[in-house]
Amino acid sequence: MDGAIPEDLRAEGKRLGIPAPIAMLAELTHRCPLSCPYCSNPMELARKNSELETADWVRVFQEAADLGVLQLHLSGGEPASRRDLVELVTAAREAGLYTNLITSGIGLTERRLKELEEAGLDHVQLSLQGTDTEMADRIGGYAGGYKRKMLVAAWIKEIGFPLTLNAVVHRQNLHQLPRAIDMALEMGARRIEVAVVQFHGWAMINRDALMPTKEQAEEASRVVADARVRLKGQLVLDYVPADYHNDYPKPCMGGWGTTGLNVAPDGEVLPCHAAQTIPSLKFDNVCDKGLSEIWYRGAAFNSYRGDDWMQEPCRSCDRKKMDFGGCRCQAMALAGDPAATDPVCIKSPLHAELQARAATFASNDSAELTHRGQPEA
Ligand code: SF4
Ligand code: SF4
Repeated sequence: MDGAIPEDLRAEGKRLGIPAPIAMLAELTHRCPLSCPYCSNPMELARKNSELETADWVRVFQEAADLGVLQLHLSGGEPASRRDLVELVTAAREAGLYTNLITSGIGLTERRLKELEEAGLDHVQLSLQGTDTEMADRIGGYAGGYKRKMLVAAWIKEIGFPLTLNAVVHRQNLHQLPRAIDMALEMGARRIEVAVVQFHGWAMINRDALMPTKEQAEEASRVVADARVRLKGQLVLDYVPADYHNDYPKPCMGGWGTTGLNVAPDGEVLPCHAAQTIPSLKFDNVCDKGLSEIWYRGAAFNSYRGDDWMQEPCRSCDRKKMDFGGCRCQAMALAGDPAATDPVCIKSPLHAELQARAATFASNDSAELTHRGQPEA
């Protein structure tokens, strides 16, 4: 497979109105020193010995660039768990991709960060599990993680990487949101992404321990709105609100198979990170097919493109080009049908029941956290 995109595929995509993807998420590994209870990695984690080799990723990065991808998000698990991370960043930059490292910081040393800078790494996204040792280490399931992360944040600032702080907030740490915003400023971040936990992957089995109350969800929106005004010109705030408490769903992936794709550690290509939870979908692998063939012709990508697949009430809804019927994985998880209206939507027959369940989850004060597992060797 050479990387150049065949003319017939390009023409076919144009004829069918399929745009080229803007971004690719490369899940380099599912290994991670942390074990966050809301990790979006699948319940069945890819084994280390099934991970793509360096040369595979290098080829895939070139294929992505040929396909039209502009931004490459290097993620995991913890991407720093890959010994070849610097080599991979070098290859991605040589392919002309903008490179963003999404990391917990654990596994990065000052020397390694400098090597990444020399390799051309463009941007870092650092995750924050809590704003103090007690919270961060308990949520991340890793003693000493917070202290180490603060050290890494200082090195990132010193080197001068553009930084985004990623704060996943939930019932147990939402009261720390104002402090997280202050910390982003102190770290010299240009952006903070505040995401109220989304219930995929491991978060699904932790709904009773993580679900915010409706009041907390509303307070989070107020804190973000206030900070956006107060910090205009200093800090950009991206915000993913509490899903189950909303009346309309999120426009998942900006539309299925339109803006981005994920490559799992073993090379399976997914329309979104949770797509493997839809049992009817079959995924192609970069070891068998070129990325452009998969993007334009892959069955998983074409399953929910456009709106022909939609059922009522989405099919005749005037919001369908705004939210695309919500999240297919959430429809699968909550309605048992990936083509159903996302039950978060007020027009879904399951909406009232979902909101009642959210309130029940949020009131379970004795719920214990189940931390994410680790992949087998
Ligand atoms: S969410 Fe936590 S456990 Fe999952 S990859 Fe990120 S840091 Fe690791
Ligand atoms: S009915 Fe479907 S398209 Fe309309 S708002 Fe709800 S999820 Fe979106």
